[in-house]
Amino acid sequence: MMKILPKMSSYDKISVSEYSKRFHHPAIRCLLTNVVGEAYNASALFFTLGCLASGDGAYLEGGSLGLAQRMAKRFNQLGGKILYGSPVDQVIVEHNRAVGIIVKGQRINADAIIITSDTLSATKKLFAPALSEPWIERMHNNTKLAACTFVSIGVECDLSNLPEDLLFPLKKSFTFVGQEITTLSLHNYAGYPGYAPKGCSTLTTIITGDTYEFWKAKKECGEYDKEKENLGNSILAFLSQVLPQTAGKVAVIDVATPLTYERYCGTLHGSWMAVTEKGTKSTAYPLTSESTKSLYFAGQRLQTPGGLPVAVDTGRRAVQYLCKDTNVVFQGKLR
Ligand SMILES: Cc1cc2nc3c(=O)[nH]c(=O)nc-3n(C[C@H](O)[C@H](O)[C@H](O)COP(=O)(O)OP(=O)(O)OC[C@H]3O[C@@H](n4cnc5c(N)ncnc54)[C@H](O)[C@@H]3O)c2cc1C
Repeated sequence: MMKILPKMSSYDKISVSEYSKRFHHPAIRCLLTNVVGEAYNASALFFTLGCLASGDGAYLEGGSLGLAQRMAKRFNQLGGKILYGSPVDQVIVEHNRAVGIIVKGQRINADAIIITSDTLSATKKLFAPALSEPWIERMHNNTKLAACTFVSIGVECDLSNLPEDLLFPLKKSFTFVGQEITTLSLHNYAGYPGYAPKGCSTLTTIITGDTYEFWKAKKECGEYDKEKENLGNSILAFLSQVLPQTAGKVAVIDVATPLTYERYCGTLHGSWMAVTEKGTKSTAYPLTSESTKSLYFAGQRLQTPGGLPVAVDTGRRAVQYLCKDTNVVFQGKLR
């Protein structure tokens, strides 16, 4: 791999969009710009495709929900206890040590705290005063938030004869919050059992771009639901053009906006990853606090661009730090 590193760093300097222009065929260009997003540096494309090609990356069984449920089951089996529907209001710091949390007005004491919600939100909202350390400020200043609008569709027809990923150039592009949308990408879950009733199929499409302020303004003026409906109808119109078998067969549609992600996950700006633009490299941040003992961090923000692998890996490493600080041997393969 050492020989490849200088070559890889040259791809850090150009964007996916620029890299795609090295290809003449419009279909290849279209494909490349739709893998991770046009604004990312081209290395992100190689990491993603390399990971998939080597068999080291794939779609998780049951998606993110399946992953989370398996982790919760394992945690419970090991004696862990999860308090659902109990957002933490504050982390209690006494004499430079994290000693507990406040949940629904109640204090829960703790020997150590690992914050796994968005570090950007948590450091501002869960501490009084906000937690400020040089690395936290760097993270606040340097993270370019990625956001999207995500449309999920249930159709009463069997699409299992179609590939899992479909990408259609649109005959007529459309403008959404100032962004020209020229393609419709579809993820087709028909091949996975349990995603839709028999004979039906589930599709999702992702519209990348930071539309947080747009949706927030719509919410404030009472047009949020109407605007979601408008976008949903536009997508359905395109869907019936590219997959005519779905026309008139849509049973359910759901539009998730950055406000949805903000509400469900508490992420800053409803952002679910970071954009590593050209000229920037992946940045890793410490998982421990410099000023407060017994305080650890894990999750997507601790290494750009984030994503599930970073969330899982930082969770494991945060526990390793905790073990080291408390003289406990880390047993990653405990059965
Ligand atoms: C449409 C879409 C497609 C994606 N595709 C991919 C992909 O293909 N590959 C990939 O790697 N990543 C993908 N991601 C990104 C990935 O989902 C995130 O980066 C990842 O989930 C981040 O994990 P996390 O544990 O850091 O944070 P989260 O998943 O946001 O989890 C944080 C948790 O903390 C909880 N929480 C927040 N505040 C509090 C509080 N005060 N008290 C208690 N709990 C709190 C939230 O409820 C949430 O459960 C995608 C995301 C989206 C939206």
